[in-house]
Amino acid sequence: MERVTTVRDVRAWRRSAGGTVGFVPTMGYLHAGHVSLVERARRDNGRVVASVFVNPTQFGPLEDLARYPRDLERDQGLLEAAGCDLLFAPPAEEMYPAGFEAVVDVGAVAAPLEGQRRPGHFRGVATVVLKLFGIVQPDRAYFGQKDAQQLAVLRKVVRDLDVPVEVVGCPTVREPDGLAMSSRNSYLSLEERKAATVLFRALCAARDRWAGGERSSDALRAAMRAILDAEPLARADYVSLADPLTLREHEGAATAPALASMAVFLGRTRLIDNLLLEV
Ligand code: AMP
Repeated sequence: MERVTTVRDVRAWRRSAGGTVGFVPTMGYLHAGHVSLVERARRDNGRVVASVFVNPTQFGPLEDLARYPRDLERDQGLLEAAGCDLLFAPPAEEMYPAGFEAVVDVGAVAAPLEGQRRPGHFRGVATVVLKLFGIVQPDRAYFGQKDAQQLAVLRKVVRDLDVPVEVVGCPTVREPDGLAMSSRNSYLSLEERKAATVLFRALCAARDRWAGGERSSDALRAAMRAILDAEPLARADYVSLADPLTLREHEGAATAPALASMAVFLGRTRLIDNLLLEV
């Protein structure tokens, strides 16, 4: 595996790469969730590119950009073992040179939930991913269902702007106790880590009610809230039952597939998770 830091080096690699190229954008500090995306890309494509870039424009001024965990040497080893061919790890100046201005305005799918709590977040995500697509020029790009609204945003951008990349959504990889893997899990104290299973437990409560025939969106949201409220270390930021493509909140009876999702604070750490409720 080669590791490069400039747009120019990626372009040179891309010119000589034959066959299809699969791409996995990440912010690094990789775990088994990221690795599953690389493995899927490996199966589907002749070549695999991953990027590690902690994108400053998707963090709010009070968020965790400065303390976001980083370990590029370890990431490189994991990517190499998973069969990645090229690692693009640019410095911020390479992505945002002096005078950089243009951005992607995503529209309504970016407005609620994460978009409402993190103003500008999806503009930052959509802009950097579109740039990375322009640099890597992949045939397919792989994203986790873990970040369900991000996946919906990127599908919308690719469709609306005719970007010639196939967006592939991949299942959420979880710890044995159900906690969705996340680089931010490393912030949790031992107590918070134990309490963090509350997200998956709340989602399972909704899934169980759904399986039992419950379709009232209020009842399904209430079932999730009740589990979260019972955990003293957790504070819910939002609990949602929405359409997975538009992220519009369900009122009254929900229709399948519905996206049950939440953001929850454990101390200063904010975690998100979701489950798709299908027919
Ligand atoms: P991040 O490094 O957090 O920006 O994530 C990079 C990619 O990995 C995104 O497409 C995420 O949705 C995906 N991802 C993160 N956590 C998981 C997980 N637990 N399972 C599957 N994919 C994940």
